[in-house]
Amino acid sequence: MFTSLSDSLDKTFRNLRGVGKISEKNIADALREIRIALLEADVEFGVAKDFISRVKEKAMGEDVLKSIKPGEQIVKIFHDELEALLGGDQAPLDLNPPARILICGLNGAGKTTTSAKLANRLKKEGRRPLLIACDLYRPAAIDQLAVLAKQIDVPCYTPDASESDVVKVAKDALAWAEKQQGTVLIFDTAGRQEIDEKLILELKRLHDFVKPKETLLVADSATGQQAVSVAEHFDGAVGITGIILTKLDGDARGGAALSMRAVTGKPIKYAGEGEKLDQLFEFHPSRMADRILGMGDIVGMVEQVADKVNEADAMRSMKRMQEGKFDFTDFLDQMKMIQNLGPLEGLLGLMPGFSKIKKQLPAGAFDNKKIKRTEAIVLSMTLEERTRPEIIKGSRRQRIADGSGTTLMEVNQLIKQFGEMRKMMKSPTKMGNMMKQLGGAP
Ligand code: GDP
Repeated sequence: MFTSLSDSLDKTFRNLRGVGKISEKNIADALREIRIALLEADVEFGVAKDFISRVKEKAMGEDVLKSIKPGEQIVKIFHDELEALLGGDQAPLDLNPPARILICGLNGAGKTTTSAKLANRLKKEGRRPLLIACDLYRPAAIDQLAVLAKQIDVPCYTPDASESDVVKVAKDALAWAEKQQGTVLIFDTAGRQEIDEKLILELKRLHDFVKPKETLLVADSATGQQAVSVAEHFDGAVGITGIILTKLDGDARGGAALSMRAVTGKPIKYAGEGEKLDQLFEFHPSRMADRILGMGDIVGMVEQVADKVNEADAMRSMKRMQEGKFDFTDFLDQMKMIQNLGPLEGLLGLMPGFSKIKKQLPAGAFDNKKIKRTEAIVLSMTLEERTRPEIIKGSRRQRIADGSGTTLMEVNQLIKQFGEMRKMMKSPTKMGNMMKQLGGAP
C-alpha cells in the first residue's frame, strides 16, 4: 500500500537532501510535488491543502533553513505532521463492562470478516468474545459468521432465518450472552449497496437498544474518498466511535487512510490487511507514517512474526547458525517457519527500505511454488547429505533432481545458494550487520 506515494516522497526528499543549502524556493517546490502526490493518492483536497500549509509553516522557519541538515529536519517535520494527520496516538477500544461493539458499514466492506477477526484478536488477548449475527438481509451473512466463529472457536448467536425484527434478535442474543458469560459482545449488522434510509433507521433502533460502547464503521480503503463520505454519513446517523479500514493490502493509493481522521474526526482503530482471520492489526499512526516514508515497521513485523513462530525453534536455529552447524535439516525447518508466516511479500513490506530492494529481487522470489520445489529438493536428500552438503556431488545431484521432480539446474542452484548462505553465517561482521538492520543485537 501507499506504493506510489512512498515512491514520490522518496524521490522528493532525496532531491531535497541532495541540495547543499536549502532555500525557501527549494522547499516550496518540494511541497508542490508532495501536494500533487497526495492528491494522486486520493487524499481529500482540503486535507492535502491544510497538511501542506502546516508542513510549510514549520519547514520555512529560520532554524530549519540554517540547520546543518535541513533536509533531515524537513523529513522529520513531515513525519510528525503525517503522524498527527493519521490520528496521533493509537486509539484503544473501550472494553469496560458491559462491553458491546456494534459493527456497521456497507455491503462488501468486510463487516462479517472483520467481526470474526476482531473476536479472534480479543480472544488472543485473553478476553471472552461472543459474536452475534444481526444481518437479517444478506441471506448468507448469518451462516458466514457462524462458520468463521467456528474456525476461531468463539460462541456465535444465530437467529432463526424467519426472524425479521433486529431488536428482537438483539434482545434474545443478550439473554443468550448472559448464559455464555462472555466479556465482549460483537454485533455484526446488515449493510446495503449504498446508504439508504431503511438501513439507517434499522441501525438506529439497534443502536438505541444495544447502547454499544463502541460503534465501529468498517470501510473498504480501496474505495478511497467514498469510504470517507460513508464514514461521515454513518457518524451523522448513529455516532461512530471509530473506524476499521479493511483491504489495506490491496490499496495502492492510501487516500482513505490519510483523509479519514481529518475529515471525520474519528480515529482509525484497526486495519485489515488480508482475508485471513489473524490479519487485523491495531492502527498505529506513528508506525504508519514510518511505512509511508519507507522507514518500515519493525515493531509491526515482529508482532506478526511472534504470533506464528515458535521462539525456541527460532533461537535453536540461530544458535546453530552462529556455531557454523547450520545444515539442510535446519534449512528445511526454517522453510516451514517461513511458510507459516503467510504471504512473505506483505510481511517484508514492513521492512525498512524494502520497497527499494523489492524491485531488484528476481521474479517469483516469493512464489509459494518455488518454496515448495526447494522443499522437495531438500526432502530428497539423505540425512547424511543434509548434514554434510559438501558430499553432494555429480550423481547424487542427479538422483536428488530425479527424486524431487525438479531439474539438475535447480539442485545445483540451491546447493550453491546454500553454500553462500553458510559462508555469510560464518562471517561475524556480516551477521552482525544483518542483525543490526533487523533492529536486534548485537
Ligand atoms: P460484509 O458484506 O461487509 O460483511 O463483507 P465480508 O466480510 O463478507 O467481506 C467481503 C469480502 O472482502 C470477503 O471476500 C472478505 O474475505 C474480503 N475481505 C475482508 N477484509 C479484507 C481485508 O482486509 N483484505 C482483503 N484482501 N480482503 C478482505
